[in-house]
Amino acid sequence: MSITALMPVYPRCGVRPVRGEGCYLYGEDGTQYLDMAAGIAVNAIGHGHPKLVEAIAAQAATLMHVSNLYGSPQGEKFAQRLIDATFADTVFFTNSGAEAVECAIKTARRYHFANGNPQRQNLITFSNAFHGRTLGTISATNQAKMRDGFEPLLPGFAYAPFDDLDAALALIDDHTAGFLVEPIQGEGGLRPASDAFLKGLRAACDEHGLLLVLDEVQCGYGRTGKFFAHELYGITPDIMAVAKGIGGGFPLGACLATEEAAKGMVAGTHGSTYGGNPLAMAAGEAVFEVIHEPGFLDNVTKMGARLRQSLEQMIPNHDHLFQEVRGHGLMLGLKLKSDARRFVGFLRDEHQLLTVAAGDNVIRLVPPLVIDETHIAECIDKLSAAARVYVPETDD
Ligand SMILES: *Cc1c(COP(=O)(O)O)cnc(C)c1O
Repeated sequence: MSITALMPVYPRCGVRPVRGEGCYLYGEDGTQYLDMAAGIAVNAIGHGHPKLVEAIAAQAATLMHVSNLYGSPQGEKFAQRLIDATFADTVFFTNSGAEAVECAIKTARRYHFANGNPQRQNLITFSNAFHGRTLGTISATNQAKMRDGFEPLLPGFAYAPFDDLDAALALIDDHTAGFLVEPIQGEGGLRPASDAFLKGLRAACDEHGLLLVLDEVQCGYGRTGKFFAHELYGITPDIMAVAKGIGGGFPLGACLATEEAAKGMVAGTHGSTYGGNPLAMAAGEAVFEVIHEPGFLDNVTKMGARLRQSLEQMIPNHDHLFQEVRGHGLMLGLKLKSDARRFVGFLRDEHQLLTVAAGDNVIRLVPPLVIDETHIAECIDKLSAAARVYVPETDD
């Protein structure tokens, strides 16, 4: 038997964390790592935040799970908080980002079905998008590495180049249901959409009766310094997928929608055994409360600006390696002139700095949102020290 006990779909590295505290992780052998990856933008309030730990422990001892066939005072309360803080009128809770996107896709299709336009089934999505790993969500990206060998995929998606408004508008036809887009692409290379692109998609939806479906699984929930990234663009979606930071590490996602967009989602059309159970709602409430403490989001903006400025100051000293910084708030990408995955490994193994590679040879910096100046200084020190001695691979 040579297959690993864990199905070998991840290229797992030598870091084997067993404990976390704030912005640090500790490996099996006691090594301390500065965590600028945060479980890929998940540990929004850091590792072991006492409010989250206490909320989960108390709820686990009170009531962990009941069926969604019963009334949910916990779910109603948390959903109402999300509604009060956003464009949305209604929420479906899930256990992951992909499930939140699945719900968003189903909600969009059902909207047109309910309106007597069942032929409006197609969502226009964008190159290098990442929406998850289910059959539906891999059908919503054109990235071959996620799709190859999993055919037949789900019909009903058309692909335009990201941030190309004219190309997106040119794909609209009688079968179009709407657009599915990340305001800031994460996995695809930390690419923020332009203002004109997102505003243009919104205007096209209004003009043609289409739905704007945003995937804010990675860029949402305080990551950019706004509660949701679309606030930076001055637009609102009709439907939005949320996950990652929302549970602070507890598996939780949500599909938010306006009353109009959710008109097809009546009893019996969708479901989830675990989705929104009392334990998940306690985790969600705790994270929500921390993120909405006065000054919390302003501090994300401030720390994001500081990290960005420090990175930009560092680039000229190592311009054989670093090209540019992009992103918003604490969702930043450092574009390399050589292979990003290899440098991420070097930072991790030689400098105990955890980052995440993204497409387009970008290193993602998506730290806990509770990061402070000392962590930023430490991160820059490690990056500079690594860049000084790093030799990019020359034979590729
Ligand atoms: C991570 C991610 C997903 C998928 O979330 P899972 O919880 O892994 O299913 C979907 N969309 C975006 C933008 C993501 O970053």
